[in-house]
Amino acid sequence: MLKVLDSAVPIPCWSCSIGHNDSTLFCPHCSKIQPPPGGNYFSVFGLEPRLNLDLPALEHEFHRLSRKVHPDRFARAGENERQWSLADTALLNDAYRTLKDPLHRTEYLLKLEGAEIGEEFAAPAGRGAENGKDRKDPSRVPADLLEEVFELNMQLEEMRMARKMGEEDPALQASLEQAKRKFDGLLVEVDQNLHIEWQAWDEGDAAARKRAQKTMLALLDRRRYLSNLVRDVTETLGA
Ligand SMILES: [Zn+2]
Repeated sequence: MLKVLDSAVPIPCWSCSIGHNDSTLFCPHCSKIQPPPGGNYFSVFGLEPRLNLDLPALEHEFHRLSRKVHPDRFARAGENERQWSLADTALLNDAYRTLKDPLHRTEYLLKLEGAEIGEEFAAPAGRGAENGKDRKDPSRVPADLLEEVFELNMQLEEMRMARKMGEEDPALQASLEQAKRKFDGLLVEVDQNLHIEWQAWDEGDAAARKRAQKTMLALLDRRRYLSNLVRDVTETLGA
């Protein structure tokens, strides 16, 4: 699914007509700004798709390119060049925002590899089972957490009732705080495991990448589930 970094067939520069690859913002021959490049968020920065990125280098490159395509520099240029500088600026912003965030970067790369992932697939409860995509049903409890989540939901309900009645329940409060710490800890574990899979994906062959992708999808599901749980507990405790 990944688009190739440098297109095999060079596209001609609109200004000097010399061919260049279509992932570049500027013609390497005459330096003129080019129409927004094809490819992906990685290739915009001249990078291969990787999960371990040199973030300071990425930031540096983002600022360097942003200055070069800044619309102020094209105020007196032709209509096309002005439009391209706006489009390139928007593209750079989206690409940088996505790649600098570890979770967004992971989801983006998995999407490039053809995975259905992210908010648009986090179906409202119920929809998942219908179309056989129950992996994406956010209400589905990870098997190893079944008992704890059941217990937690009862305690949350109890806490909400107590709050409604204006009652204090320090024991329940303490128990929920302990549960929150435990689930926070599980989130840290998920992130550590994700980093291990990053390494496996970056350095692996096709088969290793397939395995890492599958594991990362499962970890992201688990992460989403745990985050929602922690959010529920935090909201109930803070109410
Ligand atoms: Zn040119």
